[in-house]
Amino acid sequence: MKLILLGAPGAGKGTVAKMLTAIDGSVQISTGDILRGAVKEGTELGKQAEAFMKAGDLVPDELIMGIMKERLQEDDCKAGYLLDGFPRTIPQAEQLKVLLEEIGDKLDAAVNLDVPREVILDRLTTRRTCVGCGAIYNVKSMPPKVEGVCDKCGAEVVQRDDETEEAISNRLDVYNEKTAPLADFYRNEGMLMDVNATSSDAVVDAIKAKIGL
Ligand code: ADP
Ligand code: ZN
Repeated sequence: MKLILLGAPGAGKGTVAKMLTAIDGSVQISTGDILRGAVKEGTELGKQAEAFMKAGDLVPDELIMGIMKERLQEDDCKAGYLLDGFPRTIPQAEQLKVLLEEIGDKLDAAVNLDVPREVILDRLTTRRTCVGCGAIYNVKSMPPKVEGVCDKCGAEVVQRDDETEEAISNRLDVYNEKTAPLADFYRNEGMLMDVNATSSDAVVDAIKAKIGL
């Protein structure tokens, strides 16, 4: 399947994407994970992106489009992909449309994960991320077995730099201003699927039904 996952930070895009990869071998493509990897490795891309990310601001569209143009043409994308965190602005969505036409690809849908703001705030402040493999934990609902240590790879589990109260509030404002309008963009394209995303399992079932899996 080829899907865009839309939704506020903390709406569960990453969780849903991981669940969907298990169904048909589609790959999850998270621009946030790609950028965090680049920052950690200290690459040129990482150096350019770091300050924006730390403040909870968006990284410039040109950098993101450069990454995605290459990524979408890699071999593993033939089995399908789940775009998690991209596109994030109307210009990115417009450029993605052109890029997909160029490479002859067609998306099944843009799925909009809808979650109440209180739930989002609670999830983000209690979220913890593994610095090694990117696994997501929650101090209240899904803590690692040993505090601060990843169950899957043994690396450290931390609160992301952009998950302080201040950066979270900025990320949500940026989302409302720049990313929320994408729902209308994809509705006009006839591609939008709106789902209530309080439960990730229910989201996955709705997507399977929609694309006939
Ligand atoms: P979230 O949990 O907020 O959805 P992500 O992991 O997707 O976070 O992204 C983390 C940060 O990486 C964003 O706050 C932003 O700075 C940057 N980023 C990720 N994807 C994009 C994108 N498509 N366009 C611009 N910036 C992006
Ligand atoms: Zn890990």
